Amino acid sequence: MSETTVDLLIVGQGVAGSALAWQALRRHLKIHVISSPTEWPPSASQVGAGLITPITGSRLALAWRFAEFRSSALDLYRFVAHETKRDCWRNRPALRWLTIADEELWLSRCQKFPASANYLQPVEPDLVTSREHGIHGPAGSKPYVMPEAARVLMPVFLEATKRWLTETSCLSRAEFKPLDLIWDDVARHWKWRSMTARHIVFCTGYTPQLIRLPFLAAKGELMEIDLPGARQDYSWHGGIWMTPQEQDRWLVGATYDPLHLDQEITSEARLELSLGLAQWGIRNPKICSQHAAIRPALPGQMPAIGWSLPESILGRISEVTWPREKNCGVINGLGSRGALWAPLLADWLLDAMAGQPLPPEINLTRFLRS
Ligand SMILES: Cc1cc2nc3c(=O)[nH]c(=O)nc-3n(C[C@H](O)[C@H](O)[C@H](O)COP(=O)(O)OP(=O)(O)OC[C@H]3O[C@@H](n4cnc5c(N)ncnc54)[C@H](O)[C@@H]3O)c2cc1C
Repeated sequence: MSETTVDLLIVGQGVAGSALAWQALRRHLKIHVISSPTEWPPSASQVGAGLITPITGSRLALAWRFAEFRSSALDLYRFVAHETKRDCWRNRPALRWLTIADEELWLSRCQKFPASANYLQPVEPDLVTSREHGIHGPAGSKPYVMPEAARVLMPVFLEATKRWLTETSCLSRAEFKPLDLIWDDVARHWKWRSMTARHIVFCTGYTPQLIRLPFLAAKGELMEIDLPGARQDYSWHGGIWMTPQEQDRWLVGATYDPLHLDQEITSEARLELSLGLAQWGIRNPKICSQHAAIRPALPGQMPAIGWSLPESILGRISEVTWPREKNCGVINGLGSRGALWAPLLADWLLDAMAGQPLPPEINLTRFLRS
């Protein structure tokens, strides 16, 4: 087999690896992606809903550098739509129902950080409820809307990326094994099978056997339900969330289980999501499908990217001879925000490869002992 030389070898084609591949293309780098040959277990990206929301959780805090991440995400997904004619971005405002206590908390946040007020605004209940279907907010709460919320249709993005990589012969469907990777100290490049690469980046999600990170991963389950005729202009958030799909279908999620790190669907999750739906007046919906995957999360719920990593980060690669300049990187810890974070993180990693410093909050070196 003839040898192929690339600038960048990417391991993993979830949202992180896919975003990195596209950002590298925009910088005219020659890339190759190694992606698992099997559909099972499903990756977080295959299962995740791709929701982008500025305000989440009971603290009603604005997500870190939200505007910057959103703008970079929109820019990349639009670029991909232009290149592939498959548009995965949907502007999809999200509803959040606030109790009186929540409203007080929100008002005090807006007094402290006035710009926050743009991200969560009161809206008239009649404009958002689906009375004819009995869908309404929880008793004693008022609707607020996040106009900046959006949704990335992950299956569309992943499939369009896979097709592009396949058509340009930039994809190997193979299980990456550390022993297949060799550093050539004279030529100063990596060798993987018949490929040579100046740089390699691991975007492998929750893979404790490969990457030594202090994962705080959590299994998540979601389900698809039928809700014929319900108005589909908003996602709903509050404990659980539901977001419209095509043709009367809604996606409902997601559970958070840090104890059972597998991809099996459970009746417990179905019950938890069904109880969550009942708060909005939706009872006994027809459940069409259910899925589970593992979110790759890290302490502090912040992602981690790193470049020129020390050997200690990469598990079980001790057989590999490491160069002093380790042309090796990682994007991981995307937690529940992969759709929002992946495009800008990928850009930052490429900047780091070009010698730029990384923001300390997401620099993987925060996990290294000095
Ligand atoms: C139920 C659920 C709901 C979610 N909802 C949302 C949401 O609404 N919004 C949002 O932004 N995020 C959401 N997420 C989180 C989001 O899915 C993740 O943040 C994101 O998908 C992580 O992407 P990743 O590319 O880092 O990892 P992954 O998606 O896990 O991708 C890693 C890839 O690497 C491959 N790989 C691993 N090891 C190897 C190897 N040795 N050789 C070859 N290939 C390998 C895997 O097969 C996989 O394709 C949700 C997650 C779950 C589980």
